[in-house]
Amino acid sequence: MSPRQPEAEPKPFFNVSIPREEPMREKVVTHEKFRGITGQIKLGITVQSEYLFVGSGQYEFDPKAGKDHPDVWYTFYRRNGQVCIPGTSIKGSIRAIVESISNSCVSQRRGQERVQIDSAHQPCKYKDEKSLLCPACRLFGTTGFRGRVYFSDSTPRDDVQMEIVKISELWEPKRHANVRRFYEVKKFQPIANQRPESNFRFVEAVPKESKFCTTLQFENLSKAELGLVCYALGLNVENDRVVPAFAPKLGGAKPRCLGAVKFNPAYLQLWQNDDLTHGLKPLIHQTEEMFRFFIECLQECQRSNLLHSQSWDAVIKGLKPQNEPCPRGVY
Ligand SMILES: [Zn+2]
Repeated sequence: MSPRQPEAEPKPFFNVSIPREEPMREKVVTHEKFRGITGQIKLGITVQSEYLFVGSGQYEFDPKAGKDHPDVWYTFYRRNGQVCIPGTSIKGSIRAIVESISNSCVSQRRGQERVQIDSAHQPCKYKDEKSLLCPACRLFGTTGFRGRVYFSDSTPRDDVQMEIVKISELWEPKRHANVRRFYEVKKFQPIANQRPESNFRFVEAVPKESKFCTTLQFENLSKAELGLVCYALGLNVENDRVVPAFAPKLGGAKPRCLGAVKFNPAYLQLWQNDDLTHGLKPLIHQTEEMFRFFIECLQECQRSNLLHSQSWDAVIKGLKPQNEPCPRGVY
């Protein structure tokens, strides 16, 4: 239960209604042979919010902190001592957007939240190759079925300057039935002091404009499916050009408006499958050529009905960066 407050600040989240129509469940694409498109996209990630925090589940403390300095803080995730955004964390965030914009099942709810979802959108169940799965489960997998889309662990491009940021505690607002919640991209409100106090916490975060890179690997996708993933990365087509449509969010403290990022495709590598006699070799596409391919995929996705246009409109509207303050306190 969150405490009530009479003059609560505007809430920093929005809900996307779960469509009345059932998800379009189909048979899975198996992994044995190359069909469709297989390859990878090298993606730059630039932090757009004031901060990005990807928790490690651990904390550090400073026994000599005194009363005006952080005493205990949640640490940023590290791999072999290096700051890192785990690929699974990126995949989770992108999957949540794909689930929403493709009218898929709701896979990522916890505990009793699941009962608030209608029966058609309960998580898909995979038994064997004849099982029918929703678009997100076909792409990202589900228990018993390995997905066809992965992100590599993402490391910083240059040295990043870590900061210990004070935020107020994160209360979980009440959930409504049959909606998916996303946090908006508003302006983080810093807290003037660094004093440890109850109802606040410290997190170790990387600041705005920090740059990371990751590799998105995909196997046996249709163009429409790759287009769906590109939409979820925040890409769109306007006047025959690929443009950023919104800023997807990664990591934690989203209710404090942390974690909005921009994905910048650097290059696309595709495995050719039409000339097996000469063996497989990857073809690298950059700039104009790469973006032309993405436009084909995005348009194919629209034509295929994989993209649920009402939900897509709600997501781009809700995740557009806004110049409004993010609440400091409870809401
Ligand atoms: Zn599913």
